[in-house]
Amino acid sequence: MGQPDPRGLVTACVTHVGQVRSANQDDVGEFTNPSGCRLIVVADGMGGHAGGEVASRTCIERIAEVFQSATGDHETVLRTALEAANERVYRLGMATPGLRGMGTTAVVMLFDPEESDSAWVAHVGDSRAYRLHEGKLDRITDDHSWVFEEVRQQRLTPEEAEVHPRRNALLRSIGVDPGVEVDTRRVDLAGGDRFMLCSDGLWGEVDHQTIAGVLASQDPKTGAQELVDLANRNGGRDNITVAWVAVPGAVDTMPLAPMPAKLSARFARGTRARALGIAAAVVAGIAIVALAWLVLGSG
Ligand code: CA
Repeated sequence: MGQPDPRGLVTACVTHVGQVRSANQDDVGEFTNPSGCRLIVVADGMGGHAGGEVASRTCIERIAEVFQSATGDHETVLRTALEAANERVYRLGMATPGLRGMGTTAVVMLFDPEESDSAWVAHVGDSRAYRLHEGKLDRITDDHSWVFEEVRQQRLTPEEAEVHPRRNALLRSIGVDPGVEVDTRRVDLAGGDRFMLCSDGLWGEVDHQTIAGVLASQDPKTGAQELVDLANRNGGRDNITVAWVAVPGAVDTMPLAPMPAKLSARFARGTRARALGIAAAVVAGIAIVALAWLVLGSG
């Protein structure tokens, strides 16, 4: 965390079990290879008993191995790394009775100190990557999930997808089948950008605008922790993981989000309700005093 970097990238990673689950099946890692490239990865494991934890950890370990001995272009390295992780998690699951059927998501970003305008992302599943550029937050990965596809086909609204019973069903994951299709892409990179990788325990609990506000206004260490705290405050129904990368340079040409970043939408609604309650009590108090004054005054 926060390792020195030739280009001055600042990173912070936080993972938390959340408020409901008894184990944390998410995992997160960051690595530097001999050429000075940086790799950040978030994995969200699934599978009964120890399966999810083993899947996410095994996946990250295998990705790191491929990255450390990487040759070739970055896109190929990322694709090869995720395919190798798929093979290892799949084989381990097949060979170990208690781990059969385990799987994991993976979202990975690679930064090369020699490339000043590019970063690389690869993913499988519904863990996401985001880019904040000049105040605007964009999701740079498309979930490989059933609900995401239904929304894309306009058979579900985003609101329906949020509460749909099949919202956790993945169309692709690492370790479940002998082969896997990996999405990779090049991403624009500019001074002052912030990138965030996260599991669905974060993006499912904290809305887009709040994430943008925190990314724009906080340093990585404070902000990553704040996002995890917000997810927990909003319910923490799943494991929560945030990995944050800040690119040095002129930042934050944007005005900050109108709502204080510390308040999530749900939390703000609670606060407004409490404020209305207090206001009502004050008005009622004034009315009682006025009435008493009238009654006493007329007597
Ligand atoms: Ca999850």
